[in-house]
Amino acid sequence: EFTARFDIDDMLAAYNAIPGIEPMTSGELLAVMGTLVGGWPEGICDDLTIRLSGRIDRLEHRRYQDGREAVRLIDYKTGRKYAITQIFNDLQLVCYQLGLAFPEDRGCVGPSPRMPYIAQSGLFFVREDDGPSRSREVESLHQPALLRNGAWNTEPFTLRYYFKDPQYLEIPELPETPPAGVRAAAWDQIVRLRGSQTLWALTMVARVFYAAAASRSSLLIAHPTPDHVKHCRMKASCPACAGELNTVYETRQA
Ligand SMILES: [Zn+2]
Repeated sequence: EFTARFDIDDMLAAYNAIPGIEPMTSGELLAVMGTLVGGWPEGICDDLTIRLSGRIDRLEHRRYQDGREAVRLIDYKTGRKYAITQIFNDLQLVCYQLGLAFPEDRGCVGPSPRMPYIAQSGLFFVREDDGPSRSREVESLHQPALLRNGAWNTEPFTLRYYFKDPQYLEIPELPETPPAGVRAAAWDQIVRLRGSQTLWALTMVARVFYAAAASRSSLLIAHPTPDHVKHCRMKASCPACAGELNTVYETRQA
């Protein structure tokens, strides 16, 4: 079980801890993260605190021959297998990682110094795979670590058997000009991170902040993906295609 608590200052501490990074303010980071989700809902505020509690389905401790220790996180899924991109960007796995990084009782700003080294974070589809190690494919298909050494992960995308394409990590296109309130030097730094796991990690936590802000919003402007718009068969009634959703709790048949 985990209970995590974090706010934008915790995200900022992990950003400014990246070696050699151009430091930002929390206001700048919030604006950057807003760009990564296509704009914040009205419920965003600069002192938003997010509390996540849950239970990790499975946490494996692994010890390598050289003595290093790592954990592997697994979320069991009973439905059909997701597309590869969905697995890499799964927010449940992101929340598991945040649960280990920002435990409520850590007593510091930023990630816990006691956070374990996360080697893999993956989904296991019980209906389709009867064991994790029959082929290399199942173990290769996992989400990378969000954080390393108290900072957002700056490691390059690790090539794996079957999965060699960094494009699996969802990172939006970045505009050339900085968002409002972001200094040019800070934005140039973000642009230089294009394609990196750092920017992917920020995109994932921006989605978690988006969900938290959305839950306090009375009006949500939907941003359907191009792929959704192309295939949606309920354009008139679909909350995404219709443009807005009155409250986050309202579910329309779509
Ligand atoms: Zn739709």
